[in-house]
Amino acid sequence: MRRGAVWRIRKQVSQCEVAQVPQDAQKGLTSRQVLEARQKHGWNELPAMKQTGPWRVLLRQFSSFLVLILIAAAGVALALGETMDAGTIGLVVVLNAGLGFVQEWKAETALTALRKLMSPQAMVLRDGQEQVIPAREIVPGDVLVLAPGAKVAADAHVIRAAELAIDESVLTGESVAVSKGTDTANCNVYAGTSVTQGRAEARVSAIGAATEFGKIARLTVSVGPKTTNLQNKLSGLAFQLGIAALLVALGVTVLGLALGRDLSEMVMTGLSLSVAMVPEGLPAVVTITLALGATAMVRQNALARRLQAVETLGAASVICTDKTGTLTENKMTVTHVWTLDRHYDVTGTGYDPAGHIEFDGVRVRAEDDPVLAAVLKAGLYCSHAQLVQDGDSWTMVGAPTEGALITLGYKGWCALPNERGLLAEIPFSSARKRMSVLYDAGDGAEVLTKGAPEQVLEICTQVLTRDGVRPLTDFDRARITEAYTHLAQDGLRIIALASRAAPDHQIGEEAMTFLGLTGLIDPPRPEVRDAIAMARMAGIRVIMITGDSPITASAIATQLSLDVAHALTGHDLEELDDAALILVLQGDVLFARTKPEQKMRIVSALQAQEQIVAMTGDGVNDAPALRQADIGVSMGIRGTDVARDASDLVLLDDNFATIVRAIAEGRRQFANVQKFVRYLLSSNAGEVIALVVNIAIGGPLVFLATQILWMNLVTDGVTAVALGLEKSEPDQMRWPPRRKDTAILGIGGVVTIIVLGTYTGLSSLWIFFHLMDQGVELARTTAFTAMVVFEKVSVFAFRSLRLPGWRIGWFSNPFLLGALALTLGAQVLAVYWAPLQLMLHAVPLGLDEWGLIALFAVPIIIVPEVMKTLNPHNQRAK
Ligand code: ATP
Repeated sequence: MRRGAVWRIRKQVSQCEVAQVPQDAQKGLTSRQVLEARQKHGWNELPAMKQTGPWRVLLRQFSSFLVLILIAAAGVALALGETMDAGTIGLVVVLNAGLGFVQEWKAETALTALRKLMSPQAMVLRDGQEQVIPAREIVPGDVLVLAPGAKVAADAHVIRAAELAIDESVLTGESVAVSKGTDTANCNVYAGTSVTQGRAEARVSAIGAATEFGKIARLTVSVGPKTTNLQNKLSGLAFQLGIAALLVALGVTVLGLALGRDLSEMVMTGLSLSVAMVPEGLPAVVTITLALGATAMVRQNALARRLQAVETLGAASVICTDKTGTLTENKMTVTHVWTLDRHYDVTGTGYDPAGHIEFDGVRVRAEDDPVLAAVLKAGLYCSHAQLVQDGDSWTMVGAPTEGALITLGYKGWCALPNERGLLAEIPFSSARKRMSVLYDAGDGAEVLTKGAPEQVLEICTQVLTRDGVRPLTDFDRARITEAYTHLAQDGLRIIALASRAAPDHQIGEEAMTFLGLTGLIDPPRPEVRDAIAMARMAGIRVIMITGDSPITASAIATQLSLDVAHALTGHDLEELDDAALILVLQGDVLFARTKPEQKMRIVSALQAQEQIVAMTGDGVNDAPALRQADIGVSMGIRGTDVARDASDLVLLDDNFATIVRAIAEGRRQFANVQKFVRYLLSSNAGEVIALVVNIAIGGPLVFLATQILWMNLVTDGVTAVALGLEKSEPDQMRWPPRRKDTAILGIGGVVTIIVLGTYTGLSSLWIFFHLMDQGVELARTTAFTAMVVFEKVSVFAFRSLRLPGWRIGWFSNPFLLGALALTLGAQVLAVYWAPLQLMLHAVPLGLDEWGLIALFAVPIIIVPEVMKTLNPHNQRAK
């Protein structure tokens, strides 16, 4: 669906008959039937998507503009009879391709692993139990349990439904609502479509390739080859450098020829120079850094569905987060029951029914108070959750709010409802904030309602007391409001309950009798307080947007030390125009009793203030806001498929703290990309400056073509990837977020590259001329080795662009130390090992030469360290 587009729904089925449910459909298939069906029909999956094979990845290495230049260079060398040079360039091409292949293949496999993590799940009824299983395990005959936000995993025939609406646009592209009436004979749901409203059970008729969806399309996942902004920017940079390199090479060749140099020598130098100028490994290094970063994030429970997300995360300046389940545990326990006559306390924690209800310290049961009995009954009948005993512990399947009400029913010794008594249901939605069922338990049909107290009171005209039912007075309303306000001030979530007799079997929510209130604790997650403090330190605002009441939300905000000056409700929000909203958003505000649709407006208003917004969401109606946000964050446990599909990041643990960790990871990755791009370019700049200055002053060639290519190979790739693995800097989360359009290079970067390049280029040139009287071979080998050593030691200047080595730890990146040992070792071999000597026209160096190199190398380490240590601006977080 398009960004910001109206969420159009095709309403397909509504209120199919409940009474026609066949007996076996209430239990679903047995394990044996599942196995038999699987043998016959196989797995519910489409033929696997073609993955990029290793050959393709390998071939890709030879298709880049720069490699083509290299291949052309080898051809020219061959034509000029320089077989050794041609062979060396060929070797460089092969090695470079090898390195690129390893990196890309690793990235590809990392992405495939991430895709696997995203495989969809489905809820089915088997052996009489609702179970969540991987969607591929569904077989024909299975009974799917559909709820809002679920993606339908197979084609199925609806056997019962309540207010079911399906978004079929994925199949039909149509946006016109078509009602198919109430006849279950014509109620079908199709794989790939999603439930936008209501509940249903449906028997699977076709799976995998046999489904309608299978016939027309292949399921795709979104972590795809789509390139990120950063990758595009860098490919652009590499291309521009390529063009610039060709021009410089042409200029140098012409200059050399004008100065009377040999043609073949100049052509080779020109070509090598053009290659030397360009960091050809750059796009691959970025891909692998982002892909490895995404894998590292999964270990922290954040799954990036698009590589783009990792990059944008680092720039996030606002996190809009919901409360229930993200800031809080979403483990609900009823601790208070309030009726007009009495206030009960409830003991016990979690979903273990071991606690009890007490009044004035005395245990009570449902039978002791008819009002309490009515409250407990309504809570039980309005809930679809199930408690499952597993040994000594109890677990809950379903919505935590409903699980808590079922547990309360157990604690009050209330009779459990019979599923078959359910006649109709108006499901809960975050927009309506209440739900109702029509139930006939054998003693006459009843409508039972539960929901947010304001929404329930709105439909009540009577109240139940120990003396019976009587009209609801304004005084009663005031008492009820006072009671739930008081409970909410302790951070409790309030659910109100109501009922009415329904002799006409109609489920209308009107003229109800108010029964009572329940107060549920949902403790804040312990790690969230620190995460909020860290976000504040990092200049990231946290805005709570919840469906819960402003009082409960404010109480939780206080418990979490979240700065909130005032709470705005969804209703207040409707009254504000866009300009006023922007003003409000400049203060510390939280939004309560909001409808999911209002999230979109808040995101847009923040974006209008140039903020980079991360927004959480879990329901169907959250999808547009998730798309609109710069980083849509969905929930792995509690989220719906629709929300997940619309998001960039999935929190595998639904935890707010994970968002902050992911932002830290995004910052680390952007910083590392900046580091290795600057490092690579400064290395190349040194080579180019030495070559160009030397040709201008008319000296003999300072580096030979093969040596330049060797340097490029030694400097490229390995060291840069190792730099990409730098840990995050200790003060990384003390800085405000970067602007989204922050340049990778920037003025500072360009200056560093020029200064360092000039120093390394001119130093190696000076060494070259200084040793010239001992023979050009020795002078050139020393200058060449000096350049390699300079490039290696200069990497320390880039490990942090601000902090000195002693702050980040000299040994904190073992990969980098390994890469340095490897590349310097290779250079020693180049100088002393005959085959490499021959290839690189190198001669052995003596101690004097090494000493000279060391002398010039030391400032490259020391000067940046001293500058970083002394610069107070660099030390202080803004
Ligand atoms: P958040 O938006 O932070 O996740 P939330 O879960 O409270 O918070 P909603 O799901 O929109 O937001 O719920 C809003 C209100 O509706 C709750 O405060 C509660 O009073 C009521 N409510 C929540 N779940 C149910 C339910 N299953 N049945 C009836 N009422 C509910």
